[in-house]
This record gives sequence, C-alpha cells and structure tokens, in this order.
Amino acid sequence: MLQNHPIGLRTLFLTEMWERMSFYGMRGILVLFMTASLIDGGLAIDAVSASAIYGIYSSSVYLVALLGGWIADRHIGQQNAILYGGLVIMIGHFLLAFTNIETFYLGLIFVVLGTGLLKPNISAIVGGLYEKEQEKKEAGFTIFYMSINIGSVLGFFICGYLGESIGWHYGFGAAGIGMAFGLIQFIFTRKNLGEVGIKPSIELPKNKKKKEIISLYLLSFVFMAILLMGIFGFWTFDPIPIANALTVIIISIAAIYFLYLFIFGNLNEDERKKIILILVLFFGAAFFWSGFDQAGSSFNIFAKEYTDRIVFGWEYPASWLQVLNPILVVILSPFMAYLWIFLGKRMLDPSLPFKFGLGLILMAIGFIFIAIGANVAMQDGLAGARWLLLTYLFHTIGELTLSPIGLAAISNLSPKRYVGQMMGIWFLASSLGAIIAGLLSGQATYEGLNSMPSLFNKVAIISSIAGLVLILISKPLNNWVFKK
Ligand code: GLN
Repeated sequence: MLQNHPIGLRTLFLTEMWERMSFYGMRGILVLFMTASLIDGGLAIDAVSASAIYGIYSSSVYLVALLGGWIADRHIGQQNAILYGGLVIMIGHFLLAFTNIETFYLGLIFVVLGTGLLKPNISAIVGGLYEKEQEKKEAGFTIFYMSINIGSVLGFFICGYLGESIGWHYGFGAAGIGMAFGLIQFIFTRKNLGEVGIKPSIELPKNKKKKEIISLYLLSFVFMAILLMGIFGFWTFDPIPIANALTVIIISIAAIYFLYLFIFGNLNEDERKKIILILVLFFGAAFFWSGFDQAGSSFNIFAKEYTDRIVFGWEYPASWLQVLNPILVVILSPFMAYLWIFLGKRMLDPSLPFKFGLGLILMAIGFIFIAIGANVAMQDGLAGARWLLLTYLFHTIGELTLSPIGLAAISNLSPKRYVGQMMGIWFLASSLGAIIAGLLSGQATYEGLNSMPSLFNKVAIISSIAGLVLILISKPLNNWVFKK
C-alpha cells in the first residue's frame, strides 16, 4: 500500500498512528476516570461537570491547533513542531498516570498544548510530501486517515482494557508509552522527510521574530501562572461556565475571521462565493461534531452504566464499544472513496452541501437508535450493546460523508494564499462541535438515564432539520457558487 508513495509517508504514518493511539486511548477512559468514585480510584466528579471538562479539553485541542500551525509556519518549522509536540504529549500522559487532581489538570494541559503543535503540522507535512506528484495526494491522505484510525483501535483496546480493568494509572501510562514509541520512531526516521517542513515556511525579519518569540514566552508564562494558581486553589475551576464562555469565544473567533476576510481579504467575486460555501460547510461540520463527539462522554457513560456488556460471562470494558468507529473507518473508507468516483463518472456525485446534509441525517439516525436504547434501559435496567453499535455505525458513515471530504474541499475552495488559515478554520469547526458536545452531554446525563432519551431525541430532530435544510439549499447554492 505504501510502496508507491514517498518514503516520508511511512514516518508520518507511524508517528500519527502512535499519537492517535495515545490520544483516543486516553480519551476513551477520561470521562470514566473522572466520574468513577474515589474507592474505584476515580475523581468522583459528577457527570455534568465531567462532560464539560471533557468538552473543554477536546475543544481546546483543536483551538490550540490554530496557534500550533502559526508557530510552525513562522518559528520552528513543522518537523520540530511534531518533535516538541510529541514530547509534550508524552509528558502529559505520564502526568495523568499519577491520577491525582493536580497532575490531572496539568496533564490535560500538556496533552492539549502538545497536540495543538503536532496535529495540524503533521497533516500539513503529508500535503507537502506530494508537491511533485499532486495526483497521488488524495490517496496519500486516505492512507494517513487510516493510520489515524488504526491508532485509535489500538488505543481503545489497550488503554481501555488496562485503565478500566486493571487500574487507571496503567491506562494513562500506556498512552504515554505509545506516544514514546511514536516519538522514538520519528526521531530515527525523520530523515525520510527530507527538506519538507524542516524550516519555517515564512521568513520573518529578525526584529519581528524576536518580538513574537518574547510575546509567546510572556503569554505562556502568564497562562501557566494563572493555571498553577488555579491548581493550588487560589481560584476555583468551575467547568460549566467556562464551557459556556468557550462556546461564545469560539463562535466570536469564527465570526471575526470570516468578517475580516470579507472586508479586508481582497476577495474577488468567485472567491467570495466559495468562502460563503465554506461558511455553510463550517456550520455543517460543527453541527456534526456536536453530536458525534458525544462518543467519549454521554455515550461512554451510557455504555458504562446502562449497557449489558457481558459476553461469555466476562464484562468487557465500556470504552471498547467506541472501537467500532475506527474499525469501520478503516474498512469503509476505500468503499466510500470508490463510491464517489463511481457516481462522479456518471455525473451523479452529490454536491458538497448535499453530502454534509446527508452526514447530519445519518448522525440524526444514530441518535434515534441510542434514544431507543436509553428507553429500553429505562424499562429493563440495561440495554443491549446493539443500540450503541447501530449508533456508531450510522455516525461512522456520516463521518465518512463529511470529514475526509471536508478536508479536501477546504484545500480546493480556499484562495491559495489563505489555505493554511482555512485549515485552521476547519479545525475550529471541530473545536466548536466538541465544546457543544460537552454541554449537550451534560444535559443528557444530569439526571442519569432519565434525561437521556429526551436529549437524544432533541438532537435527532434538530440535526435532521439542519440536514434537510442543507440538502434543500444544496442545488441552488452549488449553482450559484460554481455556474458562471
Ligand atoms: N478522527 C479524526 C482525527 O482524529 C477527525 C477528528 C475531528 O476533526 N474532530 O483526526
């Protein structure tokens, strides 16, 4: 599979695989660890706050990616960003392995900062490897998306089993060891990448560079000081208002960015139309992730507390149920890629907003199944695992009609000079979705099982409406953007 591709893809494949193993492995047990009682070695945080913390964490990862891309472009280059990012992530997981509250928050912050450095830059280097053979780029990204998901499968199985069945320390520690494998591998095979991403892509005048570095140090110092004061009890961390505030901040960043681009971006008529299409896709993607990203929070709690997980007399870990998503991505992505080509040849390939609309409808169908599961559990005490599995099945097909396609669409629709920033905006949609998912998950779990069916049904209804609207406007919107 890899032999026709640049040798550097092997390095990135393994680095991203281990990074995602640690990322999803840790995420798989995070909410379970937070909500577990003290006797069970957990933090005894209530489900609503745990969901909010989880939302803040997963949203921050993608928010900091904006900064991570900026630092690599202007200061350290993408290769170094991966190296430092990986190191910081590894330290973060080892801090989490101590499983006390101080190291817990510090560990999460390290993982956020490290992932913000690593994730956008490793994706950018993939593109950079295909400078001379553009026609293979899409296949390269498909292989890369597979490495992400192979890593998640490993993470859910290994960290999930160790964390839930042996002890939380081991689950988080295993995530750290996984990242260490990725890092060592990266250091030894980094030369395969050649010159790609070795230097910053933007050359700054010495003075400006110095000023920016000093500001970055100052910013990190202030940020760390505030955090340490919080950790040592000088202020209290209340996750729910912070999650609400973060939602407003992310929406404002997106609004300001799009407005700025319209007013000062020197866009011509054609570019303007394409940016409006990107804005519509931005909303579609944020909507999608706000449902999908409840996998690690409300769905995970549902798996743990209200799902019958016993096979052959053995109760498997709750986080294992999440593994269906990455497994299906690996199996289905070649078929989906083929489906679009097949339809394209017959001039039947659906437009982008149509595919996004379809993604939202599939997401809604997934929510109908978990709502049924929650009702079953209310009657019988526990629900069969099939309800969650059906939910994940539909959510995964939805992911595939939207996520890899969205990534390619951003690079094709953005004006060349703004591609980097627009990738950041794409991740901002993930960030917005993740924080809303955290808040929704809180609403789903605040009365345990009782609050689940109504919230899940509500999400299903609202996202079907949003999906239908996208499908209805898809034709006129597409004609307006692409037909002269
Ligand atoms: N599963 C993909 C990844 O981990 C996409 C996640 C997202 O954009 N929210 O890279």
